[in-house]
Amino acid sequence: MINFSYVRPSSIKAAIDALNKDSASQFIAGGTNLVDLMKRGVASPEKLIDVTNLPLKNIEQRGNTIRIGSLALNSEVSEHPLIVQKLPLLSQALKAGASPQLRNMATVGGNLLQRTRCPYFYDTTMPCNKRKPGSGCAALNGYNRMHAIFGASENCIAVHPSDMCVALAALDATVIVNSSKGERKILFKDFHRLPGTTPEKDNNLQRGELITAVDVPVNDALSRNVLYTKIRDRASYAFALVSVAAVLDINNSAIQNVRLAMGGVAHKPWRLTEAEDFLKGKPVSIDNFRQAATIAIKGAKGHGYNNFKMKLAPNTIVQVLTTISGIS
Ligand code: SF4
Repeated sequence: MINFSYVRPSSIKAAIDALNKDSASQFIAGGTNLVDLMKRGVASPEKLIDVTNLPLKNIEQRGNTIRIGSLALNSEVSEHPLIVQKLPLLSQALKAGASPQLRNMATVGGNLLQRTRCPYFYDTTMPCNKRKPGSGCAALNGYNRMHAIFGASENCIAVHPSDMCVALAALDATVIVNSSKGERKILFKDFHRLPGTTPEKDNNLQRGELITAVDVPVNDALSRNVLYTKIRDRASYAFALVSVAAVLDINNSAIQNVRLAMGGVAHKPWRLTEAEDFLKGKPVSIDNFRQAATIAIKGAKGHGYNNFKMKLAPNTIVQVLTTISGIS
């Protein structure tokens, strides 16, 4: 681990100014991912700007939106009465992530920015285009059991590790960021990126921007008929092989509205819009759920060790939809 300097500003402006002053500086909050990256030599910031003193911890309802401060802890958000009652999908996803100890340290902003858990990314003796652009991708022909089946490129097949972000994708959240130019809103679907030819970039945050909040629109349907299911190798502290976040709005046995997103399958939370469009207006039935799952898996591609996800993903979609609708 290298030497670094450390500051702890108490205003958003001071934090952004400190970042802009030094191109080798980086924000830190809970540090549950960044400190690991520093210890392993994957990240080496010369200055850490600790943002935990900033007034960004509130969770409040503003009209039809719940605003979650970027420094709210994952544990606080998952247990907050507003989230439990109005956004239970988000609460479920947060509780499925990491361990209680990590959830007590990790913040919402940090969760958005956590980096892939591809083992080759953390092993500095191995080629990895995300860590060192142009060096190659050891996972392509390596042990790629945890890797992507959607949206990958020949440069990177890593997946985004967050559970919270899969729920936020299904909930049509918006990320609020601040910089010296003012406030910017980023639709959740546009926040994370696919790897393409620049896998070193995980998201579309610009240098000099600080995540200050996440806005989540609320409506009655989001407080019922929702489910986050995570398939993993062990019951706790394991990343998703496949996860599904679903909202199913049913009226007279017909599907009025549906939202579906998957985790563990792509470089970003993967929204299943074609499957959603297929289901809208259709009767609730296992056959329709199976057809939707077949549509959802269109275009997926395994890389060897992760071929099992080609079956696990559609099976999990069907399981989640049948469980929510009560027909299983
Ligand atoms: Fe690196 Fe991505 Fe390849 Fe993993 S999948 S080794 S993160 S380039």
